[in-house]
Amino acid sequence: MKTLTILGSTGSIGVSTLDVVGRHPEKYSVHALVAGSNSGLLAEQVLKFRPRVVVTATDQVRASLINRLAETALPCQEWPEMMCGPRARVEAATDSEVDFVMSAIVGVAGLEATYEAIRRGKRVGLANKEVLVASGKLVIQAARKSGTELIPVDSEHNGVHQCLRAGRRSDVARLILTASGGPFRETSREKLAAVTPAQALNHPTWKMGQRITIDSATLVNKGFEVIEACWLFDFSADEVDVVIHPQSSVHAMVEYTDGSVIAQISATDMRMPIQYALTYPDREAAPVPRLDWSEARIWSFSAPDLEKFPSLKLAYQAQRAGGSASCTLNAADEVAVEAFLQERISFPAIPAVIEETLERVPVREAGSIEEVLQIDELSRAVACEVVSKKTKTVYEERGRVPVKA
Ligand code: NAD
Ligand code: MG
Repeated sequence: MKTLTILGSTGSIGVSTLDVVGRHPEKYSVHALVAGSNSGLLAEQVLKFRPRVVVTATDQVRASLINRLAETALPCQEWPEMMCGPRARVEAATDSEVDFVMSAIVGVAGLEATYEAIRRGKRVGLANKEVLVASGKLVIQAARKSGTELIPVDSEHNGVHQCLRAGRRSDVARLILTASGGPFRETSREKLAAVTPAQALNHPTWKMGQRITIDSATLVNKGFEVIEACWLFDFSADEVDVVIHPQSSVHAMVEYTDGSVIAQISATDMRMPIQYALTYPDREAAPVPRLDWSEARIWSFSAPDLEKFPSLKLAYQAQRAGGSASCTLNAADEVAVEAFLQERISFPAIPAVIEETLERVPVREAGSIEEVLQIDELSRAVACEVVSKKTKTVYEERGRVPVKA
């Protein structure tokens, strides 16, 4: 029996994780569910999985969860312990009962709990790529020190993890991550200026949370994944390539020194990598339809357009710059994506905000998670200033007054 803490249980990855877990009550029990604000879904998850602990982002959400549980038939003495805030997230991820932590909070809000779980030697299924983008060096050092294994849940990295099992690390020439290309793969550069949040949220192959969906449309997500791959597998940015593959069936490839390429292929369903992370090194039947090879299909591969999607280039540059550059990259993107979703900046302004923030925030080496969080905060403040400038420009162009500054 494995005892789990799920960070981000109400999100897209959290829900898929609980779907896998719920099919095997004899194998998994849930110690803690950690989430942000969806108290309705959290109450349903409490009834079904009966965790010992629930952690919400704020006290308000905790109060709302209590109200919801009071409306159910679950007697109060069987309610979980309910807590809130960053300290409680760390406790939920590091409790001595816990064997496996699914790290699926979005953004740096998940960093501390994931880092502490790794430090205590918990096995971690890593979906939250921002943890490695913001703080790859410290996180990987902690994993080496505690001897824990970080099992990637991001589909491309999960694919690489599988392909690397085919040979020796010293025989690997490069990693190739595939990208669907997002909803604007075929949209002209000129037309990108007018795309709306609704269009950007309409991802062609994956159903995911809002931030990663916008990040996929700008290719920031693929840039983050290059950085994530460098840290997870100990490669330089020059050894990680990206190829556009709109069908999202081949998730990743590993090229060995003799030119042989091993690819990982499976259905476009996150329950595949999630289950792999839960069962590794074993494999089990998955609740996902298998590929039907009798069906005619065409898979295509092409190079990404770095002029149309400059974010990917910026991510490579940040990783090469080292130090805190990629922490700033993540913070600037988070601010820019929020501003785009609120229709305060245009779609092409997202990479522009990232670029200017990277130019303005000095690169330094963070020696602790606290320092990473300070750099994150500073970078956000700079990115907010850049956004305000761009917001003004957008509204001046449209000839109206900004509603939100
Ligand atoms: P999502 O937006 O659907 O879910 C995010 C989860 O984080 C929610 O449960 C939310 O309540 C929780 N959360 C947010 N802020 C919080 C806070 N302050 N405290 C506690 N909980 C908080 O996102 P998602 O699509 O599930 O993605 C989660 C992570 O996994 C992201 O880092 C994403 O990049 C990564 N990822 C997702 C996918 C996917 O298919 N969805 C694939 C690869 C990687
Ligand atoms: Mg991915």
